[in-house]
Amino acid sequence: MLRLPRFQYVAPPTVMDALGARLELGNDAMYVAGGTDLYPNMKRRQQTPRSVISLASIPTLREIHSSPELGLRIGAGVTLSQLAADDTVRAHYPAVATAARLVSTPPLRNMGTIGGNLLLDTRCNYYDQTYEWRKAIDFCMKKDGGICWVAPSSPRCWAVQSSDGAPVAVALGATVQLASPAGVRSLPAEELYHNDGMRYLTKQPDELLVSYILPKIGSWRASYVKLRRRGSFDFPVLGVAARVDFNPDGTVRDARIVLGAVASYPMRIAAATDALVGRRLDAASIADAADAAFKPAKPMDNTDFTLAWRKEMVRVYVAKALEDILSQS
Ligand SMILES: Cc1cc2nc3c(=O)[nH]c(=O)nc-3n(C[C@H](O)[C@H](O)[C@H](O)COP(=O)(O)OP(=O)(O)OC[C@H]3O[C@@H](n4cnc5c(N)ncnc54)[C@H](O)[C@@H]3O)c2cc1C
Ligand code: SF4
Repeated sequence: MLRLPRFQYVAPPTVMDALGARLELGNDAMYVAGGTDLYPNMKRRQQTPRSVISLASIPTLREIHSSPELGLRIGAGVTLSQLAADDTVRAHYPAVATAARLVSTPPLRNMGTIGGNLLLDTRCNYYDQTYEWRKAIDFCMKKDGGICWVAPSSPRCWAVQSSDGAPVAVALGATVQLASPAGVRSLPAEELYHNDGMRYLTKQPDELLVSYILPKIGSWRASYVKLRRRGSFDFPVLGVAARVDFNPDGTVRDARIVLGAVASYPMRIAAATDALVGRRLDAASIADAADAAFKPAKPMDNTDFTLAWRKEMVRVYVAKALEDILSQS
């Protein structure tokens, strides 16, 4: 059995108190929401905070507010189960509800939050292992070692962004709000991520994610599809999120196709947008967008299935995501 190391646990009642605790406890402290990512990582000694600041006692983080000017404001502490069941989210943002519903199992969705999902640690077959397993291969660059076993001559880590929620957030053009002692800043979800398996977030360690803000509803539709080995349980080995904006005449005004689990960040495919804009969303334009997404997708050999097959599936799943949008018409 894997055991947690000893650590200090505090559960402040407000965001301000949580920021104060982080200031006091310093860089050895981490925030925890549902703990479904952080605690397993601590058991495997991948992440080793001495103090953990729980956000579970902050009621304001668990609220969902609707506003015509801003869209939908979702507290970072809203659980995935809550998100998947929310009537407004299901009616107007089905891609968000679908992504939440497809994460892992019911117990993990009952604990796991959307905030923790967007900030999920990157994953790799050589990293998501016990301490003893990792020690046996002399660790790797992401934690405790010096080499990348996926690409030994590489100066960087290629661990994979494996969140189901992150590609949807980027495709929708959502915004996140981060609080720190300096105040609150907003940024597009796309700017939350770095293409680097170790420094995968632009968020500063002391910043607390407070809100996830979805765009106003309008003449756009979105979808999310996921590939994994076991449909009841597994992380994605490929996720495709798509948003298509329509002109009044039914042609495509804009589109965002974002791939999850093929790189260290949710990867937006500009060539797929180019293949769709100005055309009707139909079998021909969907096939062209799927082809356009195939070339830039370069999955690494560090998750489930062979990388050649995962790359081939990009074409299939981009088409599926766009066909889903077509079926919503
Ligand atoms: C067996 C298993 C299967 C899983 N399958 C999937 C899957 O299919 N898809 C998927 O996307 N995920 C999956 N997960 C990962 C995880 O359960 C979810 O992503 C979940 O939403 C994480 O949320 P959490 O609240 O538990 O995060 P936590 O573990 O609490 O936190 C995750 C990270 O975010 C930080 N953090 C959390 N909230 C905040 C905040 N508000 N401000 C600042 N920092 C914060 C923490 O410090 C930590 O670094 C799986 C996990 C397990 C154990
Ligand atoms: S990609 Fe390389 S450095 Fe990163 S976790 Fe995997 S083996 Fe380690």
